[in-house]
This record gives sequence, structure tokens and C-alpha cells, in this order.
Amino acid sequence: MTECQVSIIVPCFNEDEVIDTFHDTLVFALEPTRRSFEICYIDDGSSDSTREKLRGLAAADERVRYTSFSRNFGKEAGMLAGLRMSRGDAVILMDADLQHPPQLVPRMLELRQHGYDQVVARRDRSGEGAMRSLLSSAYYRAMGHFMEVDVVDGEGDFRLLSRRAVDAVLALPETNRFSKGIFSWIGFDTVSFTYRNVSRAAGRSKWGGRRLINYGIDGLLSFNSRPLRLAIYAGMTLALTACVYALWIITGVALHGIEVPGYATLLTVVVALSGIQLATLGIIGEYVGRIYSETKRRPFYLVQETEDLLHQRQVSTE
Ligand code: UDP
Ligand code: MG
Repeated sequence: MTECQVSIIVPCFNEDEVIDTFHDTLVFALEPTRRSFEICYIDDGSSDSTREKLRGLAAADERVRYTSFSRNFGKEAGMLAGLRMSRGDAVILMDADLQHPPQLVPRMLELRQHGYDQVVARRDRSGEGAMRSLLSSAYYRAMGHFMEVDVVDGEGDFRLLSRRAVDAVLALPETNRFSKGIFSWIGFDTVSFTYRNVSRAAGRSKWGGRRLINYGIDGLLSFNSRPLRLAIYAGMTLALTACVYALWIITGVALHGIEVPGYATLLTVVVALSGIQLATLGIIGEYVGRIYSETKRRPFYLVQETEDLLHQRQVSTE
């Protein structure tokens, strides 16, 4: 393999409707930059003909490489596989659905020339459903309070990383990967620019409501233990309030003798406390679960097929 200046990493899950258009647009945008490049596709266990399409692309163009997972492992695993595969001095992560416009790639490469280790293309929220953008911005605001790293609204995975930034990301050993946090955590000189949001070229988004909520929880918990701290504060506040309330009752009893106790108050306190205890237990459980999955040390993904295997097969059948 000759030296390669740019690696493009594209995780794909059931993208056979757009993959060809995406590939053509990307190559069209890359060629005028006069840099040697490779395009690494990661088929994340697609059930449509994505893998066949990737085989075709790899056979037609030696700059195309691909890895196909044995099942769907999620986009995070796909990105990780891509970073591991990449050989370029600059690595660009992008989606296959043309929501990350390939036309922006030359600009990212130019900014890299100015010495930035991370170049982030940040999308605005134009054309997005009102509900979703409201929820997202609320989420990012909440995240800002909780997380020890900055996660900016609209900054997604569409970004360029220098080789040393990629090495830094790969050096992190955790199993529960939350890229947005990781990219922010590694630091280095970062620059970002905003582009207009575009909707998906074809196919469907794989992020339904539930998946987004789970992703949100992952993000919140994988970077710090602040939710636990919050639970401690809530517990202490309640305990203090209870003490004051108890004193008040005792004084009342001392002054006026025993009255019929308020069942409503009692019940409210019991229910509120159990709710908080359950929630706290849930938070602790989440962390324990994470520790459990980290200790298993399972691989992030399993590879079923790569272009190297394809070449081997071609050789052996010749
Ligand atoms: N993707 C993936 N594995 C998954 C889900 C998504 O590799 O389990 C890929 C998908 O093919 C696309 C990118 O991740 O290239 C972004 O997915 P999608 O467009 O569904 O997300 P959205 O743009 O709605 O956030
Ligand atoms: Mg998309």
C-alpha cells in the first residue's frame, strides 16, 4: 500500500439505497484535492444488500476498503472499527446518508493544513422537527451541567481527526463508548464550522425515540459520576427536611399533646422517599452494570468479512 493522506470512515447500516450516490459524490469531492485517499466502509451487519454493494465498490476501486460485521453492533462500534482500519494522516468520519455533505471535505482538509487536530462540521437544526430539536437542545443543556466534558449541540460525528488524535481515541480502553464525549475528552486544537442541516437522501433514520433516549442516558453516565453525587445531595436534603419536620412534630406534641396524625402527609413522604430511593438504586445499578460489562472485556464487534478476505477468495478461485 502506498502512503495514504486521507482516510474516510463510513459506518453503514442498511444503506443500499444511498451508498452508490454517496460514494460517487465523495470521490467527486475528494479527487480535486489531489490527496491520496482511502475510503473505509463498515457494514454494521446490514440485512439489505449493502454488503454486496461494498464488495462491488471494493472490487472496482482499490482505494475502497470495507469491513463487514457479523451482526449489528451499533454505530459506535462501526466508527471504532473504522478508526482502527484507517491508515491516513487525517481521518474523516461521516454518515452514508449524505447528511454529512461530502462537499465539505475539502474545507475540512484545508483547516487541517492550518494545524488543527480536530475539525468539526457542526450542523444547524434547520428543517428538523420542532419536537426533536426542542428535546435535543434541552438534552444538551442538561448535559452541559452534568458532564465533565463539553458536548456542543449540533456537533456530531462528522469530523476530521489528525493521526495523533486518532491514536489518542484508540488508546482509550472503555467498552461503553460514547464518541461525542471521547472526542471532547481527548482535546487538542479544535476548530468548528457550521453547515446547513440536510435531510437524509434515502432510506430511514435508525434512531427512533427509544434509541435516542438510551443514547442520552449512555452519554450522561459514561463520562462521570455526577448523577451519583446528585443522589447524595437529594438524600441529604431530604434527611435534613425530615429532621426539621420531626422537631416540629415533637415540639407540637410537647406543647399540645398528641393529635390524630395526618395520614396524607405520612403517605406522601413515604411515596416520595421510595421514589427517590428507587431512582437512586437505578442509577447505582446502571453504574454496576457498566462495571460488569467492562469487566467482561468482550470485543466491540466481530468481523465477518473484509476486502482482504475478498481478495484472498479471488486469488484462491483463480
Ligand atoms: N449506523 C450504523 N449502525 C447502526 C445505526 C446507524 O452504522 O446501528 C450508521 C448509518 O448507516 C449512517 C449513520 O450511522 O451512516 C447515521 O445513522 P442515521 O442516519 O440512521 O442517524 P441520524 O442521521 O438519524 O442521526
Ligand atoms: Mg442520518
